[in-house]
Amino acid sequence: MGGPAVPFHISTIPKPQDEYRILVNNLNEPFEHVWLETSEDESRFIHPLEKFSSLDFLDTAVAASDPVKPPSLDHTPFKLVEKLNDLKELVLKLQGVDEFAVDLEHNQYRSFLGITCLMQISTRTEDFVIDTLKLRIYVGPYLREIFKDPTKRKVMHGADKDILWLQRDFGIYICNLFDTGQASRLLKMEKNSLAYLLQHFCGIMAKKEYQSADWRLRPLPSEMLRYAREDTHFLLYIYDVMKMKLLSLSVNTESSSSPLAEVYKLSYDISMQLYTKDIWTDKSYLNIYGLPEAGFNAKQLAVVAGLSEWRDAVGRTADESTGYILPNRALLDIAKEMPLTSYRLLQLVKSKYPHNPSIENNVDYIVNLIRNSIQASAAYEAGVEYLKEMSRGKNSDVNATSNINGGGGGDTKDAKTSHHKV
Ligand code: AMP
Ligand code: MN
Ligand code: ZN
Repeated sequence: MGGPAVPFHISTIPKPQDEYRILVNNLNEPFEHVWLETSEDESRFIHPLEKFSSLDFLDTAVAASDPVKPPSLDHTPFKLVEKLNDLKELVLKLQGVDEFAVDLEHNQYRSFLGITCLMQISTRTEDFVIDTLKLRIYVGPYLREIFKDPTKRKVMHGADKDILWLQRDFGIYICNLFDTGQASRLLKMEKNSLAYLLQHFCGIMAKKEYQSADWRLRPLPSEMLRYAREDTHFLLYIYDVMKMKLLSLSVNTESSSSPLAEVYKLSYDISMQLYTKDIWTDKSYLNIYGLPEAGFNAKQLAVVAGLSEWRDAVGRTADESTGYILPNRALLDIAKEMPLTSYRLLQLVKSKYPHNPSIENNVDYIVNLIRNSIQASAAYEAGVEYLKEMSRGKNSDVNATSNINGGGGGDTKDAKTSHHKV
């Protein structure tokens, strides 16, 4: 370990949308992929990748040359891209290459939907870090075509989330992805983390503690910039090595589809994901992590539902994550005890979750909410039964929620796919 601690959250950073030209849409409505064509019956969006098969990206000419290790960071030209002109220069450079490595840094704690803070790009000879807060409105218009270009290979590590963030924040869709995380899995590496690959293939000890740093911070300390660069600087080399290993694997196996083709197939499927907003329904509270195990009665469950609805609404308006407004553990603790006075609520919150302004500034409101929820608790008996069966491991089919709380408009699919922030 060693080195200074990296704060995962710096409370004094202003909201990016107050500093830069960023539009935030936290409405409880489906995400519109405005940059995509829709099918003829308008029932779905069409990803540009649909025109291709994953085999289109399989290298026919096998690289005979050995992988070339990149020079050290200190011997590599680096540009922090924070002006439109810098971005234009980067675009010119990317137009001249047929492969580059990409990574994103993101903040999901002080934003309802999450916000992309940085985009790192490495070519064979240069590193770039784009300030995607400052250049937010330009990233899509200038980089969309390059990311969509099927002749340019994009190498990323564990791109599942990045694919969705690119769509949500920039309207960027990727064709021709090679995910080194998938390659790592197929090669049965000891671990599949980038930190492990960096150490194994490049002898680099990445400072993992920066992974969860507050990437909204500006100006970025040089240490954080260095970490961000490391996430893409070695990736094309790792890709070279892995491709070689995957090709030599296929020589030894009788299998019809080669391991390399399999990596392209898996990367294709990751790229094809489409971002969807979690839609809030009156059953969403049932997905709270740890709820089935809490063994709550109808009154406590009614309080859970009331608190969940409150934090969702507050989070949308203030553009904060639900986990920042009221962490799941605190929500469950309050519901468990159901404090009926402001004094008792404050006591509970301050002892276990100090410095939570959203609760401390609203104690009277929340106590009222608890009282009202308890009065309406009869409607939550079905939820109690559902959760009991959940915790018994039966009835893992979330469609069973459709009969709970008379929730007419609820879309059970969202209950299945939503990921609650902790
Ligand atoms: P990475 O691709 O590892 O650089 O991670 C991209 C983003 O995912 C980071 O900027 C964080 O927002 C988030 N992230 C990744 N790992 C963690 C973690 N262990 N804890 C919190 N956030 C993480
Ligand atoms: Mn990443
Ligand atoms: Zn990263």
